[in-house]
Amino acid sequence: PHRLDALPFDNSFARLPEAFYTRLAPWGLPDARLVAVSDAAAALIGLHPEETGTPDFVAAFAGNAPLPGGETLAAVYSGHQFGAWAGQLGDGRAHLLGEVRTPHGPWELQLKGAGRTPYSRMGDGRAVLRSSIREFLCSEAMAALGIPTTRALSLVASDLPVPRETLETAAVVTRMAPSFVRFGSFEHWMANRRVDALQQLADYVIDRFYPAAREAADPALAMLTEVSRRTAALMAQWQAVGFMHGVMNTDNMSILGLTLDYGPFAFMDAFDAEHICNHTDRGGRYRYSAQPHIAHWNLHALGHALTPLIGDTDALFEAIDATYVATYNRDFLDRLRAKLGLVEARDDDEALIGGLYTMLHTQHTDYTLFFRALGELPAVAGTPAQDAPVRDLATDRAACDAWLAQWRARLALEPRPDAERRAAMQAINPKYVLRNWVAETAIRAAQTGDYAPLHRIHACLQRPFDEQPDNAEFAAPPPDWAQSLSVSCSS
Ligand code: AMP
Ligand code: MG
Ligand code: MG
Repeated sequence: PHRLDALPFDNSFARLPEAFYTRLAPWGLPDARLVAVSDAAAALIGLHPEETGTPDFVAAFAGNAPLPGGETLAAVYSGHQFGAWAGQLGDGRAHLLGEVRTPHGPWELQLKGAGRTPYSRMGDGRAVLRSSIREFLCSEAMAALGIPTTRALSLVASDLPVPRETLETAAVVTRMAPSFVRFGSFEHWMANRRVDALQQLADYVIDRFYPAAREAADPALAMLTEVSRRTAALMAQWQAVGFMHGVMNTDNMSILGLTLDYGPFAFMDAFDAEHICNHTDRGGRYRYSAQPHIAHWNLHALGHALTPLIGDTDALFEAIDATYVATYNRDFLDRLRAKLGLVEARDDDEALIGGLYTMLHTQHTDYTLFFRALGELPAVAGTPAQDAPVRDLATDRAACDAWLAQWRARLALEPRPDAERRAAMQAINPKYVLRNWVAETAIRAAQTGDYAPLHRIHACLQRPFDEQPDNAEFAAPPPDWAQSLSVSCSS
């Protein structure tokens, strides 16, 4: 393990031409104090456990002191926001410190909220404690769920006032990812007619993250195909777990297929396929049911940006479509089968799964509780009381019983021992997800200076599949006080 001042630090992005970024120092955060650390994230960069939370650590990850070997910069990118071309954006409140080299590849460290950059436009360069807590908790929760995501190393806070709808206070999250390159990073160079820069960025990403594509006849096409596969796989994971991103603009789409930029996200509570989690998204472009289609749309935007590098435009869009659709459909069905305790693929599975979603949608059943409770039921039908964990979630018991009968008929086609099937279901159907009301609980306490609930929730979400009697309250559907919680792009 490394001491903080001896992290093997580098910044390969800073070796790209100057046009890709602006070198600058973060403003930092006055009187920064530590709110939370992810030991799991610290372990990924080989940081010695004794180094987290020290004054030097807080200074470095508040942006108040540079790390030895770092070359801090803000990157430029562009993108489509809510389906419309937005032109140049960029790291308006993010500072890339550099990357830690590890035996498992690089981890870039990036401050979010440590001051303005040339790409801030109207923004103040800050992030409020509220949204920073949401990003910190959700990054680490998604990782524990096994969903590709950027990580969060630390969260530091300050009394510095930050005006949003109300006066809030500033915080800085240190994010980690092998790379923060977005679809919009490529769109930027296409829009600026800079084929040379486009090629440099593609080469950078291919050489570092898609080495197999380098061997292909058309490396950019091979990269695009693999990005399509990863993005489809990510969407299957989001839909299966009930995660809604909220702002799937192309500048928030990771070229590595990671969940990126936690803003007005939500996990599904009462199931509604058309749920819009982002209050700012009036038209519902990014509603739950639309996410897979939007990711596909975003891949087309990326594909368009790569056309100068890929000779055959027809082949390009065919590669996206074929790879995306096949991967998404296969992964989503596989995941749903697993969530239902099924191993084999059968023709009727889509009907069984479709019937389930219709039932959940019609009855507004709590999504996470339903799958978890289903894993408690025996394969063989018995008394209604025995099915209470699931039936009690239903408003239409007859419809619920009818679907359970279909599910059991399907289970009977597979010879799997019941105990094994139930254990497998509990290992894929989380008990704990970061419900908005749970995040809000951490936020409200933290805003009064009490970080204990945040720490408890963070620890709980590290083991989302485990029964945790002491944390059972965090598995509950939203309490009355939280029914009207709304989240927006304001962060
Ligand atoms: P987002 O919707 O969070 O993905 O942000 C879109 C763009 O706005 C990105 O270029 C961000 O860096 C920028 N941005 C968002 N909030 C701020 C802020 N408070 N200050 C500066 N730039 C911001
Ligand atoms: Mg963003
Ligand atoms: Mg954002």
